[in-house]
Amino acid sequence: MQFQLTEDQRAVRDMVREFAAKEIAPVAAKHDREHSFPMATAKRMGELGLLGITVPEQYGGPGADYVSFALVAEELAVADASHSVIFGANASLSVGPILNFGNEAQKQRYLPGLSSGAILGCYALTESQSGSDAGSLTTTARKEGEHYVVNGAKQFITNGGVADLCVLFARTDSASKDAKGVSAFLVDTKTKGFKVGRNEHKLGLNASYTNQLFFEDMVLPKEALLGREGEGFKIAMATLDTGRIMAAAGSTGIARAAFEASVAYAKERKQFGRPIATNQAIQWKLADMDVTIEAARNLYLKAAWLRDQKQPYTHAASRAKLFASEMAMKATIEAVQIHGGNGYTKDYPVERYMRDIKIFEIFEGTSEIQRLVIARHVVGA
Ligand SMILES: Cc1cc2nc3c(=O)[nH]c(=O)nc-3n(C[C@H](O)[C@H](O)[C@H](O)COP(=O)(O)OP(=O)(O)OC[C@H]3O[C@@H](n4cnc5c(N)ncnc54)[C@H](O)[C@@H]3O)c2cc1C
Repeated sequence: MQFQLTEDQRAVRDMVREFAAKEIAPVAAKHDREHSFPMATAKRMGELGLLGITVPEQYGGPGADYVSFALVAEELAVADASHSVIFGANASLSVGPILNFGNEAQKQRYLPGLSSGAILGCYALTESQSGSDAGSLTTTARKEGEHYVVNGAKQFITNGGVADLCVLFARTDSASKDAKGVSAFLVDTKTKGFKVGRNEHKLGLNASYTNQLFFEDMVLPKEALLGREGEGFKIAMATLDTGRIMAAAGSTGIARAAFEASVAYAKERKQFGRPIATNQAIQWKLADMDVTIEAARNLYLKAAWLRDQKQPYTHAASRAKLFASEMAMKATIEAVQIHGGNGYTKDYPVERYMRDIKIFEIFEGTSEIQRLVIARHVVGA
């Protein structure tokens, strides 16, 4: 057993660390404040090959492994959680379904653009009445001759307002009410009948757009079907397994940013004539962060490694996502505490970390749903 990244993995991590520190970190607070989408740095992620990092060279990507993919998510999140999520919505949620379930024509048509950043993707599963119970979705895709006619609405779709391509999940079997009747489609967002609704006002992750989407008699050619009819739920869940590795790595990155800021502040800030870092109460908080960040990193790396080995990784991905997101929530709260009153102001970045992390306990399957997945593996039910 080796606890060592390969030369290629280290090179990816170091390159992204440098890029994120130089180009993303300086603009993160501004985009958060202005709730603006960071199109320039999003496009730069494409130029650097990050947005389709696991796409094989034959389809225009660098063909990196999933350990590298996860390291990218961590490094981006250290600089800015929103960038890590924009990356994930493209490199994982949009690329993944095409790479794993697309036919040759679909791969050739979409993967080069998604990899280079020429097009951005989104993944539209959630609806107002179907969140954790995703199989109960009600958007319909009615077959009419050689076409499908789509009607319905989605909500909370990351990148929804800026995407060129939408991986859409809709019900093709109107008689069914459960997961079996769901199919997946690749939709050009310029298609007539595709409408973007409001960008949600959120607690955090302000630089990442989260939109409603509406479909009004939207006509799709039969070539838009991804995989087979009725295979949509399987595609959606397989995609979320990898998304959970990304969410775990992103959480680890946010916690690391909170930790590094806290160590620096604790050494600098003096009360009672000495740095607050000399107090055991502060040291223990930092020690707990140090241990749990390392544990989270090992969990997500194990899940990514299993995926690279083509071994089952659903259980490992859920473990990593659950632990890392809850760990990072706690770490960011402690980071604000260590910063005292300053931590509660926008002069310091830790309040942003605390706001940004909360959603990692909710999207890609809530903590409760992760416990459900893990418990199923534990008790075999
Ligand atoms: C910023 C943001 C970005 C998002 N991005 C996307 C995206 O790109 N694409 C997409 O499709 N969706 C996206 N989502 C949606 C997200 O995945 C859902 O919000 C999430 O899955 C939870 O669904 P819900 O909000 O409907 O909550 P609900 O499912 O209504 O859950 C409410 C509460 O009940 C609990 N609960 C539900 N069922 C059970 C159960 N069986 N056992 C125990 N507890 C249960 C939940 O854990 C939660 O605590 C995003 C959401 C946000 C806020």
